Amino acid sequence: MAGRSLKTEAVVLRSMRYGEADRILHLYTADRGRVGAIAKGVRRARSRYGGRLEPFFRLRMELHEGRGELLTVTGAHTVDGHPRLRSDARALDAAARACDAVGRLFETSEPHPAVFNLLCRKLALLETQSGSLGRSSSARRGALAFRLKLMLAAGLAPQLAACASCGEREHLGGFSGAAGGVVCGACEGSSFPFGSEAYGFMTEALGRPLSEAPDASEPALGQVERAISETLEHHAHVRLMPAVGRLG
Ligand SMILES: [Zn+2]
Repeated sequence: MAGRSLKTEAVVLRSMRYGEADRILHLYTADRGRVGAIAKGVRRARSRYGGRLEPFFRLRMELHEGRGELLTVTGAHTVDGHPRLRSDARALDAAARACDAVGRLFETSEPHPAVFNLLCRKLALLETQSGSLGRSSSARRGALAFRLKLMLAAGLAPQLAACASCGEREHLGGFSGAAGGVVCGACEGSSFPFGSEAYGFMTEALGRPLSEAPDASEPALGQVERAISETLEHHAHVRLMPAVGRLG
């Protein structure tokens, strides 16, 4: 075959049926960012890929790069299939939202190994939390901590140390997505109220490992989610799904 081959680890973000027996995959790779690939013949009963070209699988892949936009899958070996995650509706939903956020925020083939590692850690964490994610607030805390770390990797972390408009360090009671961070009383124009609990969640979530997402009340988490959404809409023109679904 003409073209060249690429070996990389990848997480399957999406997997769609295509034609009689093929699948189109959206992959987030360690070496090539987000890429699209076609896997031929995978839906035949005797496919050598088995069921591993499914969302949330972490794979060691061989891909062939020809002239087309899609790479062709020529090999796939499971690194982690996250089997427990698949049996828990809440973990599955959280994994889908995490993959969706990565795919939207990092949609080019520019490599971001830190983002790949972060996604792998998130999926591994959901695997261990399967069956015990409990109320939706723990899923929401985890999802928001993950999004904040993605923003950091994208160079879009909210400014929290001083007013994002004027640099004032006191009276930071609002958040402005347009300004990209907290704002003081004099700069409140386009902001919404942002309490100390939400502020504490953001600073701690950015500084701690993903597995230690801080605690916060639902109203504070609501402010954090709004701050993240408005910042990303303004500065990345990306609209994410709600951090958690309606599983109760
Ligand atoms: Zn200000």
